[in-house]
Amino acid sequence: MTADPNTPEGAAQLFGRLNEEERAALRELHDETRAHGRTGLAAAKAAQDTVGQANGSAAAHLAAVHMGMAEFLQVAYRASYDNALADRLIKPVACTSGCAFCCYLSVEVTIFGAVAIASFIAASRPDFAQPVRDTAPKVAGLSALQRSARQVACAFLQKDNTCGIYAVRPMSCGAYFSFDASVCEQDRKTGGTSGNIPVYGWPGVLNSMITGGLSAACEDEGLQSCTVELLSAVALILDDSTAVPRWLAGQQVFTPYRHV
Ligand code: SF4
Ligand code: SF4
Repeated sequence: MTADPNTPEGAAQLFGRLNEEERAALRELHDETRAHGRTGLAAAKAAQDTVGQANGSAAAHLAAVHMGMAEFLQVAYRASYDNALADRLIKPVACTSGCAFCCYLSVEVTIFGAVAIASFIAASRPDFAQPVRDTAPKVAGLSALQRSARQVACAFLQKDNTCGIYAVRPMSCGAYFSFDASVCEQDRKTGGTSGNIPVYGWPGVLNSMITGGLSAACEDEGLQSCTVELLSAVALILDDSTAVPRWLAGQQVFTPYRHV
């Protein structure tokens, strides 16, 4: 069974296989992300203090953190992927636009990411607001395994099987790659229970470090620091304008993501 880098257990398993230089680089990524997250949170809190209930400016600072780290993640894994491919250490991943068996799985996202996606919907894709509201209750409170077994499509999956929020998609989506689409298809048919998808693990390890760094930044600032389930969190932010201000004020606002 391949380690799933999007779980803490899987990331730890993969982390254990690295040499000391690679471990040091990952620790550095974690710590730099933590500092970056703290800067974004401070800016968001200041904007919140300045504009009171109008939290759009605060949300923009939080979304900028997500976008910056997502862009870093893409560049970082891409370089490693190209090198590994050129050295024939791996075969090409099977992921292509329109392949979406994985869009029925549970999606873990940082609170920064959930804010960025809610902001994107409000500004650019209001047509997604109702599908999110309709789908969120079907997956709320489920563990990742239970969610996968329900076989509920992501609310952002479009008729042509492309992602409607691709530009701001969760880092866990952007870091998920399989070497074999037929295994993904089989996994989809069995409700995400096969557990043997041959994932390209390095992007997931990078994502784990970034996600951990952002959680640490929240802890540093005295904020709820969990990751969250994508649709439940976005629905909450869209429908409760006090959610982000209350979170920035230190309240426990979000339901933590359930891996198991
Ligand atoms: S992870 Fe699997 S289902 Fe998702 S795009 Fe890649 S090959 Fe397709
Ligand atoms: S956010 Fe996009 S990529 Fe991620 S599961 Fe939903 S449709 Fe798929």
